[in-house]
Amino acid sequence: MASLLEINNLSIDVKVDKETYNVVKNLSLSIGKKQKYGIVGESGSGKSLTSLSILQLLPDVLNVSEGNIVLSNDLDLTAMSTKEILKVRGKEISMIFQEPMTALDPLFTVEHQIKEILRFHGKYSKKQMDDMTIEILDKVGFAKPKQLLKKYPHQLSGGMRQRIMIAMALICKPKLLIADEPTTALDVTIQAQILDLMKQLTNDYDTSILLITHDLGVIAEICERVAVMYAGTLVEETTVEKLFSNPQHPYTKGLLQSINSLGEKGKRLYSIPGNVPSPKETNKTGCRFASRCPYVMDVCLHEDPPLFTVEDDHYSRCFLHREEV
Ligand code: SF4
Ligand code: MG
Repeated sequence: MASLLEINNLSIDVKVDKETYNVVKNLSLSIGKKQKYGIVGESGSGKSLTSLSILQLLPDVLNVSEGNIVLSNDLDLTAMSTKEILKVRGKEISMIFQEPMTALDPLFTVEHQIKEILRFHGKYSKKQMDDMTIEILDKVGFAKPKQLLKKYPHQLSGGMRQRIMIAMALICKPKLLIADEPTTALDVTIQAQILDLMKQLTNDYDTSILLITHDLGVIAEICERVAVMYAGTLVEETTVEKLFSNPQHPYTKGLLQSINSLGEKGKRLYSIPGNVPSPKETNKTGCRFASRCPYVMDVCLHEDPPLFTVEDDHYSRCFLHREEV
């Protein structure tokens, strides 16, 4: 599959008390054209920071210390000036977040906010902007788009706001849509509708998706390929089918066990014991999952596990795959 976005050996650092810590460490992955790619992990895994770094949206205390992110084979996003990256945001790559209320401006109407994006990224006549606005609102499922134009964000439900966000994210038909926990704040029934909508519209527009979530169920719903992240490192990467049918990394197995125990009556919900270590705790060498891993061995405490190829197109970062261990 032709690649759209390449993340190459990306490390993100934070400075605390004059010490530098890796919050993302040597991450590499590749998202194909039109592909729906998921990154899954608990909070603290570095998945949101990875997505923010794509558009240079990291908070000031964090910085990319190694590696780069390349769009369409030749645009190095990490090397762009502020002016250049502003042209990419919303046009080539757009983003939606968990809480649409924070991303929408409470002071402006829906119409104003949608047209603002068109004004910034293109030269359209008033008539063109009117038509495009109505068209996209129709596409995201509003039966009477005209009635929405003069509404303010607080007059809309959470699901409606998320539809508006999707409309704004897709109006320029971007190459990539980054969606960070897009449905976490919504009711379960609305969640499914929003995921369907994202799937359908990105298919129509040939847009790739990078979906960030803590929920493997959401990944199964929408993605073709997936990276599992733990404490800033990629621990497993493969197709969604292979991840579910043949999980390899002990952390992935734990995550799957926690969703599989959902809904089984009388059974306690399984969760992986312990917490994601803080960057301070992960700074040393060794497997970052060691403190929670039921299979931990001596080598895991002293060496960083490399990424092993466990079967065709399936990678896992664990010493259990090393034959001589
Ligand atoms: Fe567990 Fe060791 Fe594998 Fe890490 S490398 S997941 S500690 S067995
Ligand atoms: Mg997050």
